[in-house]
Amino acid sequence: MNAIIDKIRAAGIVGAGGAGFPTHVKLAAQAEIFIVNGAECEPLLRVDQQLMALHAAELIRGVRYGMQATGAREGIIALKAKYKPAIAALEPRLPPDMRIHILKDVYPAGDEVITIWMATGRRVPPAKLPLDVGVVVSNVQTLLNVVRAVEREWPVTLRTLTITGAVQRPVTVTVPIGTSYRDALALSGGPTGPGISIVEGGPMMGHLVHDLDTPVTKTTGALIALPDDNIVVRRHRRTMADDLRVAIGCEQCNLCTELCPRHLMGHELPPHLIVRSLGYRHVATPSTLLAALTCSECAICEFWACPVDISPMRINAALKAEMRAQGLRYEGELRPLDPMAEFRLVPSLRLIARLGISAYNVPAPLQSEVYRPNQVRIPLRQHIGQPAQAVVAEGDEVARGDLVGDIAEGVLGARVHASIAGRVTGVTPEHVTIAAPT
Ligand code: SF4
Ligand code: SF4
Repeated sequence: MNAIIDKIRAAGIVGAGGAGFPTHVKLAAQAEIFIVNGAECEPLLRVDQQLMALHAAELIRGVRYGMQATGAREGIIALKAKYKPAIAALEPRLPPDMRIHILKDVYPAGDEVITIWMATGRRVPPAKLPLDVGVVVSNVQTLLNVVRAVEREWPVTLRTLTITGAVQRPVTVTVPIGTSYRDALALSGGPTGPGISIVEGGPMMGHLVHDLDTPVTKTTGALIALPDDNIVVRRHRRTMADDLRVAIGCEQCNLCTELCPRHLMGHELPPHLIVRSLGYRHVATPSTLLAALTCSECAICEFWACPVDISPMRINAALKAEMRAQGLRYEGELRPLDPMAEFRLVPSLRLIARLGISAYNVPAPLQSEVYRPNQVRIPLRQHIGQPAQAVVAEGDEVARGDLVGDIAEGVLGARVHASIAGRVTGVTPEHVTIAAPT
């Protein structure tokens, strides 16, 4: 078991689903159930569903390694019925202690609190971890990296991501980590015209891209091109001052709370009260405000629930940053499940229509060839915890897979490796830049 963890640590594997938590730390815990989160519920993303179909046998071996490391007795691959090629490839290969769980095609089925509830019936209490209910959840690409690390001692040097939206050819590509967004976008033929912005991640939980020289990391899931007048782009362009001005118009309709997935699970989190507390401080009990710490930032309250264009999510995010800086914690109990929970999660197709992106809900075929950039700029922090410390200097020659950033024993973080062969042309506390031979 320690051999698996050691190889995962050496390979610099982190959660590829977005948070970037170091996998060697996560899999060192003991659990009863090991879940692969194959929901991929952010609209337009096409990564995990294609990787599961293409690498089914490898994924099942990854679940086995995850179960061995955590001592789990059951493995569950949670995915949606519409991922038919993945189901067809996985089902015949499943051993008796693993099963597929078909998730409803709703958003946010991939929020691990929701995934666990749907796949096992267990509910994670607010501010607690999946481990508190005996579960470890891992992402598809993370587990494929685990297999390559355990069986071949390959470090993480590549990332598969979808490039879609208002681009010439929606595609899913594999690129060396550190490839610029600009180079990655070019693989789709680029935006279809002027007046288009790029969102990294997904329409619901992603971020607007301000610099196309930003490098792809171990957690970059997608680049989505959208017209500047699309609601997703307009919302992302709003400032906190804009958000607060709009929030004063809250009607207290309560829809944000009624439709909040965490609230439906039995968490206290009441976004309507948090918004009201901006104007009426006497309603802001410490527990109400601290409950913002349990917000998943799924953005249902912003993009789906609120009839007057308020974003409780962004207010929660600002509060979370402030409260975390003060070292505050939320300590509320798990409440009864909302009897309407099953019916209030949002159907994916209706959400896509609401976001005005139905025209972009198209395949993004996975390209088999790995892109070869002329240069990569590899971030030394692509994960939760401390940044890696560079162990190379300008002028060094490196091979693909060589260690370029290390973490000290016992420090939360992840190692970083050269994603291409070439000469190191720059080292800063944030990045290592490598140029390919000409
Ligand atoms: S973003 Fe909104 S809907 Fe989602 S968990 Fe937070 S408060 Fe609830
Ligand atoms: S949905 Fe909008 S208007 Fe209604 S309570 Fe929530 S923030 Fe206020």
